Amino acid sequence: MIGQVDFNQGLYYLNGFPITKNSDFSPCNMLNCAKSDIDTWHYRLGHPARRITEHICKAFPYVQSKCSDVCDVCHLSKQHKLPFCKSDTVSDSCFDLVHLDIWGPISIPSIHGHKYFLTVVDDHSRHTWIFLMQAKSETRKLIQNFIIHIKNQFDKTIKCFRSDNGPEFNCVDIYDTYGITYQKSCVETPQQNSVVERKHQHILNVTRSLLFQSNMPKAYWCYAATHAIHIINRLPTAVLNNKCPYEILYKKPPTFLNLKVFGTLCFASTLDNNRTKLDPRARKCVFLGFKTGIKGYVLLDTLSREIFITRNVIFYENIFPFKAVEQCIQTNGDHHDSDFLLKEGDHSPNNSKDLQQTFLRKNIEDNIETESIPDSVSDISSTNEDNDQPSDNSQGSRDTNLRRSERQRKAPLYLKDYIHQVNNSMKP
Ligand SMILES: [Zn+2]
Repeated sequence: MIGQVDFNQGLYYLNGFPITKNSDFSPCNMLNCAKSDIDTWHYRLGHPARRITEHICKAFPYVQSKCSDVCDVCHLSKQHKLPFCKSDTVSDSCFDLVHLDIWGPISIPSIHGHKYFLTVVDDHSRHTWIFLMQAKSETRKLIQNFIIHIKNQFDKTIKCFRSDNGPEFNCVDIYDTYGITYQKSCVETPQQNSVVERKHQHILNVTRSLLFQSNMPKAYWCYAATHAIHIINRLPTAVLNNKCPYEILYKKPPTFLNLKVFGTLCFASTLDNNRTKLDPRARKCVFLGFKTGIKGYVLLDTLSREIFITRNVIFYENIFPFKAVEQCIQTNGDHHDSDFLLKEGDHSPNNSKDLQQTFLRKNIEDNIETESIPDSVSDISSTNEDNDQPSDNSQGSRDTNLRRSERQRKAPLYLKDYIHQVNNSMKP
């Protein structure tokens, strides 16, 4: 049913959608999810500046972006840029100089309880890592692990760390052990720490873009920030003569073939051995990014709210399920048909904020203790992009990446296979 008409004097008058409070034919019931006409590559790449997009389009012909449309998300997320003095000098080689800084605290903790992240920027490649933290006191252990990781993965010893005057960075005993010089900026002169300060600004711009474009609750900022880093490390920058940090560090260009729009609708295939003939063949999900070291997409199940990783996914990159929730509420005034996120027994919130809060609360309750996805989903163990990327609809899925829908409070199986990648001590 599309609409209703009245017949009067030989003419049909279209009344449009019959929107009534309990109508079975409201737009929401018909559409279910919000569709929009978007510049998909611009969204996939986290809303980069036009010159960056143009450069990528030239270097990667399969990337096609109009580059010309006005983008609301860009304005909302990065219109007010803080001025930073330009630093165009780079070190001679990777890990000669590494910048450190802590961002936070944020008033809205992530769904896993993070309030901070430690940012690490290699001066030469500008490759960036972030480590999510619940408390600043985790910094010391993270720095120590980072030093060991770089030694093992790149066979390099960090020569110098530079940070502001934060007491968390005062780990002189560690620096001495590894023979690392430590430089800190003068008091109240953040300009001396401008590389990492500007990187923070960039990370937050992209993080905001990803959250705005998808309308996801802010508590998912941890996934948005992690995905932002994944994108930023692959974007060309003028400081590197239009090469990207990934290319400088790994000495080969990145691929964008598996990149998807953050927060979009997707369907993950269910496992053969976990279903009967009559069980659903797929789970309805939202895309949350990648997990380094595992070939798969990090997904949020829209019904069970479980966060899990799988390879067998079909994407609908112009549909944002969280936007659908908001539109349903705005259109209908109530959300009886926005079944998308609510379980039985949930009370009807009056606006999207309430709905998101309800959803968020449930996530915190459900996920913090049972969550199986490691919190820090950074690029740190990525030394080979080919091994790092999932492929769409691949039949060669590792079953251990999937879990049954029934919640089980036990360690996830997939970690067994990747224990060398998931260094617990690197995990915030
Ligand atoms: Zn944009």
